[in-house]
Amino acid sequence: MHGGLGQDMTKTTRETRRKKRSRTRLAHAGRTPFEHFGFVNTPVYRGSTVLFPNAEAFYANRAPYTYGTKGTPTTRALEEAWSEIAGAADTAVVPSGLAAITLALLTAVKAGDHILVTDSAYLPARIFCDTVLKRLGVETTYYDPLVGADIARLMRPTTTAVLTESPGSQSLEVQDVPAIAAAAHERGACVILDNTWATPLLFPPHERGVDLSIDAGTKYLSGHSDLLLGLVSANERWSKRLRATYDAFAMCPGPEDVFLALRGLRTLELRLREAERAGLALAHWLSAREEVASILHPALPSHPGHALWKRDFLGSTGLFSVILKPYSRKAVSALLDGLELFGLGYSWGGFESLVIPFDCKSYRTATDWRPGGPALRFSVGLEDIEDLKDDLDEGFARLRAIG
Ligand SMILES: *Cc1c(COP(=O)(O)O)cnc(C)c1O
Repeated sequence: MHGGLGQDMTKTTRETRRKKRSRTRLAHAGRTPFEHFGFVNTPVYRGSTVLFPNAEAFYANRAPYTYGTKGTPTTRALEEAWSEIAGAADTAVVPSGLAAITLALLTAVKAGDHILVTDSAYLPARIFCDTVLKRLGVETTYYDPLVGADIARLMRPTTTAVLTESPGSQSLEVQDVPAIAAAAHERGACVILDNTWATPLLFPPHERGVDLSIDAGTKYLSGHSDLLLGLVSANERWSKRLRATYDAFAMCPGPEDVFLALRGLRTLELRLREAERAGLALAHWLSAREEVASILHPALPSHPGHALWKRDFLGSTGLFSVILKPYSRKAVSALLDGLELFGLGYSWGGFESLVIPFDCKSYRTATDWRPGGPALRFSVGLEDIEDLKDDLDEGFARLRAIG
């Protein structure tokens, strides 16, 4: 962890808070009001230069803050809070979720290495592996997300990292992260998880064997579709290497975005629980529709990953997918185009409901994607669920009319 006086003070309170429940911790983590004249929230610190009081302090190089790229009280408040919530030794905060993925991978690899990446990974993560990492001499093998302990068979002497994402982007396969972690650790590889769907509140990554855990704060942490942010948390073993890599890149986020993320943090659990409730309600309603072939939602007993989800997760969120019966693209467009409440756009986890059509077939290389009909991904927002159902009900009428 970072040195510094403020840090030591929060450390003691952090120890006592560890025993408290997550809601309590979310309300209090990363706040030191009496370092800010008693104001409840850590303010937005803007700045590059940090002045040293005298030459001795400059030479000693032990000041808690030395330069803008190395962190401010604002960024450190979020790092502190997230480490506490995720059960991590340290957290790096970066300008986007994708930057969190690239930072985690670059923390773990060097030229000549081989890495294993789940076929269900967030598409831009694949692009990074196939272009930048390839150019740097790192070879990527994509693997079936359902591989479990058999990941051992794919490991080579040069394999240094395994990227997992659970549930997978768009298709929501649940991975056996503890089994993958055990196999990877036996061979000394770093286990990375994109934990954006669950957040550390519903999947405590480091307890489950993950070394570097990624969260796109853009999604549920922000909760309002008004910022981009990423977080990488590390266990004790990987924290120094993460911090050194972060400092080398100076991938520092803007202070306003960090402030907004800290605001989002205070209500994260409340919003996640509501997302879970509304997501399940809508998924159940959709599963009874004649236009729907299947629902990809890990908390539904019909989902192939349901048992693993039940074993490892503490809840579900409001992001899930639906496979329709084989309707035409024109019919699906008619459904989507007339929607009044569901927006058509990327990202998710905001207060507003979203839907996008998707097709994993174009980029998957280790597994077949044959859903048998058009696929839609839903992010359920905070609107009244009955209004959302009415909106979709009218959409399904438009779908059927074209067929
Ligand atoms: C959105 C997303 C990201 C990337 O986050 P950005 O802030 O948009 O870069 C990474 N992983 C997953 C699973 C995501 O859904």
